[in-house]
Amino acid sequence: MNATIAAEGGISFAPSAEVLDLAERTRAFVEDELNPIEQKFLLEGRLDFTERAKLEVKARDRGLWALEAPTEYGGCGYGQVALAFAAEELYKSPIMFGPLPGDIFGGSPEPALYLCTDKQKEKYFHPIISGEKHSAYAFTEPETGSDVAGITTTATKTEDGWVINGTKKFIGWIEYADFLMVFASTKPDAGARGVSCFLVDVDAPGFEKVRQLPTMGDQWAPWELRFADCHVPEENLLGQLHGGFKVADEQLTHGRLKIAALQLGLAQRSIDIATKYAKDRETWGKPIASRQAIQFMLADSEVEVQAARLLVHKAAWMADANEPMRTEAFTAKLYAAEMAQRVTDRCLQILGGSGYLRESPVQSLYRQARVWRIGHGTSEIHRWMIARSMLGLKSTD
Ligand SMILES: Cc1cc2nc3c(=O)[nH]c(=O)nc-3n(C[C@H](O)[C@H](O)[C@H](O)COP(=O)(O)OP(=O)(O)OC[C@H]3O[C@@H](n4cnc5c(N)ncnc54)[C@H](O)[C@@H]3O)c2cc1C
Repeated sequence: MNATIAAEGGISFAPSAEVLDLAERTRAFVEDELNPIEQKFLLEGRLDFTERAKLEVKARDRGLWALEAPTEYGGCGYGQVALAFAAEELYKSPIMFGPLPGDIFGGSPEPALYLCTDKQKEKYFHPIISGEKHSAYAFTEPETGSDVAGITTTATKTEDGWVINGTKKFIGWIEYADFLMVFASTKPDAGARGVSCFLVDVDAPGFEKVRQLPTMGDQWAPWELRFADCHVPEENLLGQLHGGFKVADEQLTHGRLKIAALQLGLAQRSIDIATKYAKDRETWGKPIASRQAIQFMLADSEVEVQAARLLVHKAAWMADANEPMRTEAFTAKLYAAEMAQRVTDRCLQILGGSGYLRESPVQSLYRQARVWRIGHGTSEIHRWMIARSMLGLKSTD
């Protein structure tokens, strides 16, 4: 266990040597490989697929691959605390290199894929670790995102498997994916209790990419997908029949930790840039850093990023200790996502017009931060879940 807080008789905030080593190696990767291409990325707003593939090779050469995958499967076996440190370092770069939310550098199967049977592991789980395959997660539909019970994509049983029909929207990383985890209703009257998850190859007959959906975030351009009598074999059911909600919950809880951790990187980089600028930039003969208005923006940002870091590290530590941390993951992601938005906004303000230029990393970090009050569960749904846990309410209340 890579616990940052691993004290006997007290609390220690000292990260282990293993955690510090991973953070340092991630920082070196960012400095050597990402910073030199940062300006090109900022102006173009995207990272070319071949460039991404070359970076993956460079990351692997440095041992920055399959960080989370268990050692018995050939991965590094890092815990969530170590991954939180790595995510913070990697996401100081606006270049959206890591295929989040499932992973950091690549090579670690998404949490739901741990439910694979041995046969499924051969085809889908191990090839992710070896780098031969990438996955995507298809839950959201044009008519429903937050409301799990509202899924209208159906999977109907046939003699030799399942036939999927329906439309999915906002599905990310499809251009890199070899297969998808597709959520479909297998018992239409049962709401969330009648949803199942299927592993669908991108070359399955009946699967179609309808259109890409460019967004305000650099690189983010999810897809609308159609399933028209798309046949999947019986053995491609992931987890239990009608147990899709559990699959989704498993996936989303662990994803939330990484999303929360990456906000620390976005925010800290923005603070570092704004602090330097405030010291260098003079108005009326004095650095703007001498003005209380600027100092308060910096101080509020520093307080918030530190508070978010504590929430993230605590939830990660609980995950490493195998303690239930669903509510802590909701709390960390909610606060970190909203913190990152406030911090990147303040830092952009400190930079004045220079912050608004495409060449400024802060404008990209600001736009990227915005999605996380929506993606992987909106802030409103997070507040609802936290309150439900506080009040002891059930999903039917
Ligand atoms: C860039 C991007 C990438 C994405 N990638 C993926 C992906 O790879 N796979 C995937 O499956 N999905 C993905 N999504 C979808 C994302 O998870 C959904 O957009 C999100 O869950 C919200 O769903 P929605 O957009 O349908 O909003 P809705 O659920 O329609 O919500 C609309 C508004 O109403 C609020 N609201 C809804 N219900 C309640 C309630 N009960 N109480 C209070 N407020 C409520 C919401 O908080 C929100 O403000 C992605 C989205 C984006 C923008």
